[in-house]
Amino acid sequence: NKQVIFRDYVSGFPKESAMEVRESTMKLRLPEGSNGLLVKNLYLSCDPYMRTRMAKLDVPGYVDSFKPGSPITGYGVARVLESGHPNFKKGDLLWGFTGWEEYSLITAPETCFKIEHTDVPLSYYTGLLGMPGMTAYAGFFEVCSPKKGETVFISAASGAVGQLVGQFAKLFGCYVVGSAGSKEKVDLLKNKFGFDDAFNYKEELDLDAALKRYFPEGIDIYFENVGGKMLDAVLLNMKIHGRIAACGMISQYNLEQPEGVHNLMNLILKQVRMEGFLVFDYYHLYPKFLEMVLPQIKEGKIVYVEDIAKGLEDAPAALIGLFSGHNVGKQVVVVSQE
Ligand code: NDP
Repeated sequence: NKQVIFRDYVSGFPKESAMEVRESTMKLRLPEGSNGLLVKNLYLSCDPYMRTRMAKLDVPGYVDSFKPGSPITGYGVARVLESGHPNFKKGDLLWGFTGWEEYSLITAPETCFKIEHTDVPLSYYTGLLGMPGMTAYAGFFEVCSPKKGETVFISAASGAVGQLVGQFAKLFGCYVVGSAGSKEKVDLLKNKFGFDDAFNYKEELDLDAALKRYFPEGIDIYFENVGGKMLDAVLLNMKIHGRIAACGMISQYNLEQPEGVHNLMNLILKQVRMEGFLVFDYYHLYPKFLEMVLPQIKEGKIVYVEDIAKGLEDAPAALIGLFSGHNVGKQVVVVSQE
């Protein structure tokens, strides 16, 4: 059983050497009387929140830190080989928390979702039809309280979550602009995902001026993925009664000392609501989300770009790459296709 082992806690920018790919000779078997699952992992998801788990965390209600010497854990798509749980039988496909290894024992199958629709790429259950898709859906529709015709700005817009927020907002009838870190990503936003406009934040010396160019009358909704300087510039450009969904702040994850935010007074002056959220609180909406999004995929109204790394050997680099913007679209690792 090939595994990606977490070596030790990390501070600063993570390196591939925080992980090690190893062969384990221990035979995995479902213990007698267990109500868990033995699964074969097919696709693994690389997600920015995994950086927070590389440090010693003590946040009640949030996911645990990785355990040094044990495999990395995270979202994935897997096939059930043996089941001790009434919700699953041999051969079923599921997405949920699993290990970064070829085969895993899942001890909490009740947290996994059975995959019922297989007429879409299975890897989509790490992204569009999995946790990032639910994040985009809940963050936009539940947290942002959108209205047709409003102006929406999204940072890290070409990524797993951002590309969907933009497409949902366009289908809903909003004016949508995104920022991303390369020309290739900006082209995707404008030409593939149908954003009204997009810009490369790395080429803008003055983010405030850039936002004023795209939103001369201000921003109604900001879908926050990066934090730091971008958040500060956005705060200067929010409209009265605007909303900010604080989804993530990736620019801060590797800093030992987070940057200060200077323009928070604008929340008061412009009566802006800024709300942090975690996708875990919204999984009860998953069936409703599927009902909306599956037909949109089939009709070609929603498209999805993935960046696929091949094999567990490439998984550490794929995960670290999220923090330098190496990924173009949702970063997936294929472990097996059968
Ligand atoms: P992405 O697929 O967008 O990958 C991360 C991207 O972030 C990179 O490709 C890069 O894009 C950008 N980035 C990396 N470092 C920086 C930096 N220093 N400054 C600005 N941008 C940077 O990731 P996801 O779509 O999966 O996640 C997006 C955000 O949503 C993250 O902050 C994540 O933590 C958060 N999240 C929150 C959830 C919740 O429940 N609240 C659930 C899921 C995700 P570029 O080249 O454009 O810079």
